Amino acid sequence: SIPLGFFGGIGGASKRGILVKGSNYLEALNNVKYVVFDKTGTLTKGVFDVTAVRPAVGMTEVALLQYAAFAEVHSNHPIAVSIRKAYGQDIDETAIQSYEEVSGHGTMVSVNGAEVLAGNAKLMNKYDIQFTAPTEVGTMVHVAVNGNYAGYIVISDEVKEDAAQAISALKELGVKKTVMLTGDAKPVGEAVGKQLGLDEIYAELLPHQKVEELEKLDGKKLKKEKLVFVGDGINDTPVLARADIGIAMGGLGSDAAIEAADIVIMTDEPSKIATAIGIAKRTRRIVY
Ligand code: ADP
Ligand code: MG
Repeated sequence: SIPLGFFGGIGGASKRGILVKGSNYLEALNNVKYVVFDKTGTLTKGVFDVTAVRPAVGMTEVALLQYAAFAEVHSNHPIAVSIRKAYGQDIDETAIQSYEEVSGHGTMVSVNGAEVLAGNAKLMNKYDIQFTAPTEVGTMVHVAVNGNYAGYIVISDEVKEDAAQAISALKELGVKKTVMLTGDAKPVGEAVGKQLGLDEIYAELLPHQKVEELEKLDGKKLKKEKLVFVGDGINDTPVLARADIGIAMGGLGSDAAIEAADIVIMTDEPSKIATAIGIAKRTRRIVY
């Protein structure tokens, strides 16, 4: 039988917007060695603003933004949402003949016969698009039209209000290492990671590489020590499923993430990870 205190713990957690899918996960939170975070939508708000539109020679700002908005028409990635918002006009979907989202890269569409790519440098390299890497720092969305580089759009996201405190609280609770795994560019990942005081930062990772990094960390701990992964489920559902304890942001997160996770944070606040560990510790004191 399950000791009564565990129900108290799960109930107490749910009152704080933390849904724990089983008492075993609450118990496991007593031995956390690593807390690994996704960046976008997890430590940052996942709400990007377009800060610059930089067309290549022969392209206008308006045309560049329009190509990007068409390319992002069917994507629910936070980057896509921001580009459509900056474009601000209705998009005639009948102009789009084909659409493909390349996970961790960006999108590819055929619009009125033009082949449009919108995504990161990896996407450009994958399709042999020649371009000079910009010196600006920020999350970049590069655009290519019919194999020619059309320019880039700079977007920026903000860290969540409680993110820094979330990291320091975990350290106080005895978590050995806080880590970030991101698909975003290295300068962006490192800037956010340093600002928040994370111990290790791994950037430019594709979804399957996030799983590989997680497995490497997993290999560096004892069996009884636990690894937590916290994500929003956009491109990180496999990592959520692979962690000892997968925690999803329930508000921003996808249905798939909520399904794959062991714990769901309804308020999307990363500080709730420390709250959950605190509840786990108090619950254990009551139970034993
Ligand atoms: P994170 O790990 O920061 O949550 P993702 O794995 O979701 O990021 O995405 C990694 C990178 O892939 C993004 O930073 C972006 O460069 C690119 N990307 C993914 N989806 C899109 C998209 N729809 N449009 C443009 N770029 C995208
Ligand atoms: Mg994400």
